[in-house]
Amino acid sequence: MHETALSPESNDSFNDQIRIVLVETSHSGNIGAVARAMKNMGLGNLWLVNPASFPDETSYARSAGASDVLDRAHVVSSLDEAVADCVMVMGTSARGRKVPWPVIPPPDAAATAVQQAGSGKVALVFGRENHGLSNDELQRCHYHIHIPSNPDYSSLNLAMAVQVICYELRMFHLKSLEEGESGPYLQPMVAPGDEGWDSPPATAGEVEGFFGHFEQTLVDVNFHRRDNPRHLIARMRRLFQRARMDQMEVNILRGVLSSIQKAAGTQSRKEQGAENAAGSQHKGQE
Ligand code: SAH
Repeated sequence: MHETALSPESNDSFNDQIRIVLVETSHSGNIGAVARAMKNMGLGNLWLVNPASFPDETSYARSAGASDVLDRAHVVSSLDEAVADCVMVMGTSARGRKVPWPVIPPPDAAATAVQQAGSGKVALVFGRENHGLSNDELQRCHYHIHIPSNPDYSSLNLAMAVQVICYELRMFHLKSLEEGESGPYLQPMVAPGDEGWDSPPATAGEVEGFFGHFEQTLVDVNFHRRDNPRHLIARMRRLFQRARMDQMEVNILRGVLSSIQKAAGTQSRKEQGAENAAGSQHKGQE
């Protein structure tokens, strides 16, 4: 049995499966307020991508006793690094973007996150105070979460947005505990990560490896130029993210790409090595 997501009362075991990721936060007070919001709801796994200032006095002052969350925070230099080992990535956004992405409301996001946390790590990603998450960052996500705020004034303070999402996570967790295994919140098996699926969900790092290989192959066969408007790649990212690929599917697709490159005479040595590794892994899993 997997470790329960969100331990009921977190005196010793903060949950390691669900992580809150803050991207390039400019006010360290907000980082402290986020730590507090998380701890109130029983969460403690905080990742910071290039914070403007951390650790510092302001963040600890605003954390109001949640300093242990700050002590344990991971500081990394890219979003890719923060989510590489996650099987589900959800980005939060106050507004819609050019290429629309699957958007889910906070309660559905919480249910999905807690369920996926049974089989792997889940990241909930929050953007900069001044301009949120970039399109590239949002395109690394399976889902976008929108808090249905006033459309004429839609942007919440960062820590308040984190609070809303963590509250929903907690509500779902408490409901699941109350209703146990027979509760209506248990989902049928529909995707990698669900109990009974035959291959583990691909991590964000594996999926990024695939996207890099995919784009290179499209360039090799002259279907795509990197200096073209990037909507083609955005749309392909959206397609594959929607499919929620498992590890075996990623390995097969990379094998296909390598064969295309071989036929086009463009496969590099490095890719040949990756293909051999993917091929043997694939054979091992069947
Ligand atoms: N001005 C920015 C919003 C920044 S608010 C913009 O227009 O995009 C800082 C962060 O809080 C956002 O990146 C997002 O992570 C979160 N946030 C704020 N309001 C939100 C909302 N209504 N729904 C989801 N997330 C929200």
